Amino acid sequence: MKKRIAIGSVCHETSTFTPVSSTWDRFYVRGEDIFTTFTGTNTPVGGFIDAGQDFELIPLLSAEAHPAGPLPRELFDPALDELLQALRDAAPIDGVLLYLHGSMVVGSGEDQIDDPEGYILAAVREVIGPETPLLVPLDIHSNISPLMAEMADALVVRETYPEVDMAERGRECVNILRRMLDQGLKPTMAFYPLPLIWGMNQVTAHEPMLSAINYVHEIESRPGVINVSLNMGYFLADVPDMGSSIIVITDNDLQLAEKYAAELAQWVWDRREDWYYDLPTAKEALALAEQAGAFPVILSDMRDNPGGGSPGDSTGILKTFLEANLRDACILYIVDPEAAAICHAAGVGATVSLAVGAKASSLQGEPVHMQAEVIALSEKGEFDYAGPMFAGLHGQMGLSAHIRQGGVHVLLVSVREQPFDMEFARTMQLDPQQMRYIAVKSTAHFRAAYEPWAGAIYMVAEQSVHDFGNLPFHRLGRKLYPFDMTAEL
Ligand SMILES: [Zn+2]
Repeated sequence: MKKRIAIGSVCHETSTFTPVSSTWDRFYVRGEDIFTTFTGTNTPVGGFIDAGQDFELIPLLSAEAHPAGPLPRELFDPALDELLQALRDAAPIDGVLLYLHGSMVVGSGEDQIDDPEGYILAAVREVIGPETPLLVPLDIHSNISPLMAEMADALVVRETYPEVDMAERGRECVNILRRMLDQGLKPTMAFYPLPLIWGMNQVTAHEPMLSAINYVHEIESRPGVINVSLNMGYFLADVPDMGSSIIVITDNDLQLAEKYAAELAQWVWDRREDWYYDLPTAKEALALAEQAGAFPVILSDMRDNPGGGSPGDSTGILKTFLEANLRDACILYIVDPEAAAICHAAGVGATVSLAVGAKASSLQGEPVHMQAEVIALSEKGEFDYAGPMFAGLHGQMGLSAHIRQGGVHVLLVSVREQPFDMEFARTMQLDPQQMRYIAVKSTAHFRAAYEPWAGAIYMVAEQSVHDFGNLPFHRLGRKLYPFDMTAEL
């Protein structure tokens, strides 16, 4: 008889600093619809489905939200109840594969849950008992708690950023589960919270991160080791478990796991200055780009990344592009449903007078006045991702407009989402590969599709709600370098 394995996901990356409110706006699918949504996709659940064909997979619930502020209890509590009820209904089961993002915060004030992933895993554990395997792939930007490590048999963090190994880590969890069921493997986790929060040097294809990931793989190749995770953490959350961490999983050898975790922690700590660097403004980055002469140039507006919960409507780069009178320049994207609606009312070919962006918060800069031509419109902004990230997944940017003032093109959208690839822009008659200057509201995920043809990429710092230097932290659970230079390993 096939082993019965329950699958699902609860996924949210929560900034406690953004004014953007949260709903389950990415997916809320249950039962068979989970197969329809995720089969063949580069997602953790897609990986479960792909590698778990020899199991009887029982789909529970996939509740996923775009990164934003804390998820209200009114949305979280029923979702968890539904997940747990589906799990009870699925009994008897032989294992659970549950994708969690790892940096969720729920509620506010007295109702706040600082560690929803630990809360979810404890609740799932209560239903399935201590013996049933519970395996959890996590984002590389997780704030992992001791409770999470205690409740799961294995926490497996992604190893890439841009995170192109989503399905692969899902498959890895399936394979660990299979070895537990068939060969009596006993995953034993050492959880090592690091006294630091990772800086901007996160891209795993480049140094210094490349060496860090190579080191992770070297430890993984040692006898007795099942998996090693280097988790960079998610710093836009003022919660006690915020920070980077390491997990080493061995086969039933806690001492060995702890030894290797401490070894990797020391290695990271010895190089702690390497994970940080100062960012230029958009104007400074343009000057650097002209000097270097490698085009097309991409500016990453990383402080206004919707993927980190930011509103996606800051105007620093737009203002810089217009003032510089650039030709063949584009901004992907600016979240401004109001401006998109004005374009729709005017129609393709019309010239519109608009105040663009900076509507979510005064910290996002000033709205920029534009006299722009409407080039293309879309009611729902529907498209299919070509990947590598999310390849095969259907996307929606909501009411959208492509406008142009002089040589500067702007894609106005209604859904807060990063440009993971070029497909949406192309449906809006804008081919990023024909541009000389491209601004993306994305920290790194855009690289998966854009880096192969970019001349140069600059991360830039412009005004936003996520202005690193000024974030008010009050509730951190440990000293974190570089916020606190007295932090010690
Ligand atoms: Zn991430």
